[in-house]
Amino acid sequence: MNLKKLIALGLAGCFLFSGCAEQRAVAQQMLENSKQENRYESTSFAMDTIMTFTIIHEDGEELLIDAEQEVRRLENLLSVTIDNSEVKQINENAGNEPVRVSADTLALLQAGKEMGAATGNAFDIAISPVVKAWGFTEEEHSVPAQETIDALLTLTSLDDVTVDVENSTVYLEKEGMAVDLGGIAKGYASDKLAELLKGKGVESALLSLGGNICAIGTKPDGSLWKTAVQNPLDANDYVGLLEVSDICIVTSGGYQRYFEQNGKQYHHIIDPATGWPAESGLLSVTIVCESGTKADALSTALFVMGLDDALKYWKTQNDFDAIFVTTDGEVVATEGLKDSFQFEGQDNDFTYRLAERG
Ligand code: AMP
Ligand code: MG
Repeated sequence: MNLKKLIALGLAGCFLFSGCAEQRAVAQQMLENSKQENRYESTSFAMDTIMTFTIIHEDGEELLIDAEQEVRRLENLLSVTIDNSEVKQINENAGNEPVRVSADTLALLQAGKEMGAATGNAFDIAISPVVKAWGFTEEEHSVPAQETIDALLTLTSLDDVTVDVENSTVYLEKEGMAVDLGGIAKGYASDKLAELLKGKGVESALLSLGGNICAIGTKPDGSLWKTAVQNPLDANDYVGLLEVSDICIVTSGGYQRYFEQNGKQYHHIIDPATGWPAESGLLSVTIVCESGTKADALSTALFVMGLDDALKYWKTQNDFDAIFVTTDGEVVATEGLKDSFQFEGQDNDFTYRLAERG
């Protein structure tokens, strides 16, 4: 077993065996240390994922509560399952009437539409009826009939999602349409949290919302935040490390949610052009971008596009970088990450290359 794996397992072990006295003493010491440097951390479950917030600030304890409340507030607006959420009301009124929504819901729907247009509809917030047909919003998953997929694809056009900024309303033009912000809402939430915390004077924090990470500033000693890019084939391993400050890092991958039927895996990222899980030759896409909202939408969209189209798209933009892990075992990072990404996948037969603009 390589050292990297040992570290990963050791970290997991700390949590698994934290009942013993020795571990408790270590934990106590860590707690003392963290108090000294005003380091506060909380873990909670929201937006269908595990969230861990680390805040370094003398008022960290209250700020953690503020952060959790902000997440709940957004979840109550944006969830597709919570009764009376604004998104649920929009969906229930599809083909019926426009729904008046808050500034957050309006901004996110607008961002979702913009990212759809920017990515040639690889990102599609109206894909929900198809996602539902695959069972990804339910407990029961199964491969839908092709006729079902074909029929539902007529309900997924972003042109039929009308966002009226002047009147603060959203209208889904056809009955049966629905929006699903699962591919962008956590990114938006991370931006809102960062804004809230910075506004309260936080200069050092790390927010982790499932696959979405947002770094505020640097660590208190001025060193960079370090995060691992997971090996999509092994939850206890990683393909490389990113060292960053003041940036968001979002990963999408088929490995994050899938089911198996007749020995084949079907994952949750749907290609809006076919209605089937995107089979684009990628295992994961990690986006590094100042905007968490954009990073989230792009990680989903570039996964759908596949490596070649994603790199072509990246070359037309200048506000993000990306790391791709392909089904062929290649790790490709875009050139802006030359210094901040350290490839570590060689032990597991991954190969590495840097993609350049030229
Ligand atoms: P992410 O984990 O950010 O890549 O988002 C994946 C989630 O977004 C899925 O679980 C679906 O709820 C939704 N989704 C699936 N395919 C798409 C797509 N092509 N565009 C937008 N959202 C999608
Ligand atoms: Mg996403």
